[in-house]
Amino acid sequence: MNLNSNVLTAIKKLWKNDVQSKVNVFGWRLLLDRLPTKMALNHKGILLNSHDLLCVFCFLFNEDCAHLFFLCSFSKGVLEAVYNWVGKSLPISVVGWNHFLLFGDMIKTKKGGCVNHLIWLATSWSIWKLRNNVIFNGFIPNTTSLVDDVKVCSWVWFNNR
Ligand SMILES: [Zn+2]
Repeated sequence: MNLNSNVLTAIKKLWKNDVQSKVNVFGWRLLLDRLPTKMALNHKGILLNSHDLLCVFCFLFNEDCAHLFFLCSFSKGVLEAVYNWVGKSLPISVVGWNHFLLFGDMIKTKKGGCVNHLIWLATSWSIWKLRNNVIFNGFIPNTTSLVDDVKVCSWVWFNNR
């Protein structure tokens, strides 16, 4: 595998966040585009019906990592709210590691980018959990409650550092 150096930088920063290893593994897989999204399963020959490939948040586009976490109107709404929460706005036309690096670098705090990467990870993790709950447990996506989840998640992780 040929790892882009930016991905390597992003992953090194990710490991500095002292969160549960399963969440870190999730972040790692997201940065490497290795999550079992519907399109990933399609490429493996598992999900073949085109009706099964749509994003469960918007039902407009096929679900891959870039769409699910960065481009979907639902996820963008969540990201916007999280940016507002940390007092920033950011153009969010970038995806993957670039998004991760930008998010970490945009706020200068005494603790450096780590806290911001932690919030980024909490946001992505919460989106992924909700996506699974929509598919497997029939949850209805709700931006406000998801943003609340992100805040709680960030707070718990921050205090467990
Ligand atoms: Zn979508």
